[in-house]
Amino acid sequence: MKTAILSVGTELLFGQITNTNTVYLSQQLNMLGFDVMYHYTVGDNPQRVAEIIQLAFKDCDLVLTTGGLGPTQDDLTKEVACRVLGDELVMMDDVLEELTAYFKKNGRQMTENNKKQAIMPSRAEIFRNDAGTAPGFALEKDGKYIICMPGPPREMTRMFQKSVLPFLQKMSEDVIYYRMIRFFGIGESQLETSLLELIDSQTDPTLATYAKEGECSLRIASKRRSMEEARAAVDEMLSKVQGLVGEYIYSSDDEELVEVVCRKLLEKKLTIASAESCTGGMFAAALTDIPGISGSFQRSLVTYSNEAKMDELGVSAQTLEKHGAVSEETALEMAEGLKAVSGCDVCISVTGVAGPGGGSKEKPVGLVYIGLICGERKLCKRIQMRNVSRKWNRHYAVLSMLDLINKNI
Ligand code: ATP
Ligand code: MG
Repeated sequence: MKTAILSVGTELLFGQITNTNTVYLSQQLNMLGFDVMYHYTVGDNPQRVAEIIQLAFKDCDLVLTTGGLGPTQDDLTKEVACRVLGDELVMMDDVLEELTAYFKKNGRQMTENNKKQAIMPSRAEIFRNDAGTAPGFALEKDGKYIICMPGPPREMTRMFQKSVLPFLQKMSEDVIYYRMIRFFGIGESQLETSLLELIDSQTDPTLATYAKEGECSLRIASKRRSMEEARAAVDEMLSKVQGLVGEYIYSSDDEELVEVVCRKLLEKKLTIASAESCTGGMFAAALTDIPGISGSFQRSLVTYSNEAKMDELGVSAQTLEKHGAVSEETALEMAEGLKAVSGCDVCISVTGVAGPGGGSKEKPVGLVYIGLICGERKLCKRIQMRNVSRKWNRHYAVLSMLDLINKNI
């Protein structure tokens, strides 16, 4: 179904707030199989809001609006939508009752203009607002639908999940099932090239690749008459994808790499410690972002200087002198030293040239060594990153550490 999203609010036009509602709705609607054709943004002006709704209906059968549903003077979306779809506003007693109860419960005085929020288009299906006062609604005329939701993102997303989503699912005869497959170690263009035949020859399931800060993902989506059919089609496609690029997949359920690693560590009851140079604690920060990781993560030593590497981890002066701080030898001695002080099952170290300065011909910016001791195994991985920026290099180094752990535990 051809769909438009209309954001109402002068503050959007001033650039005072970022239009996160449209981003959210676009993602949700696309996932549901609605074709989002237009994004409109208009100020709090009844004439222009009406014109845009009419314009959108020339091409679309569904318009979703956010904003302008509140109780104040500039909140006019409801009146305009009602007028354009040829309905009249009536006081809805059950909505008024709920609003009164809401104000009473929150110990707030209910003003006359709050009561205005219980006045709704007579034919509308009303959507309750769990997080605020302004209800939303859906209204139809001659097969054209408008769905109006409040502006505050928290109110809008809750209403969308709880009421609008089921409403939209009823509207569409088909069901959509999709999976997000996540990759590390392969670029988006390489992924697309590897899957070219599948992408070119498929109409359903559809395949779409996305790139995201050093990683990429693939959405496999199917639109069928039943959930079982859609699921079977997606899973069949997933096994074809696995056959082609399986070695790069770290999740077929849209998990972050750090989540996958932490889950595995906890499941296998492995303790972990890190010794970080160029990442300066970012690895530890990523791990400690995950609730419950105290069951595995023990410590991280940030050993940035040569002295720190020698004092804390027992890296030898000769190694640093002969091979340099950024070398396989240093990375391995860091991991060994960490093993000695922490006794953890998994000991990971990292040392590299984050840039922008400090690079040389032999050791260019973006060169990183990661040492890993895991049970009986001891290994070191050399990675030469594309020198995008210091921030990116450090971020990518953390992902590479997680990837190495993921493949070795
Ligand atoms: P209220 O009852 O709070 O007045 P409302 O439905 O009338 O809600 P608006 O007055 O248009 O909505 O917007 C309220 C607030 O919601 C804005 O100040 C802004 O913070 C947020 N908001 C509105 N539209 C958007 C949007 N498209 N993206 C992100 N935030 C938004
Ligand atoms: Mg408002």
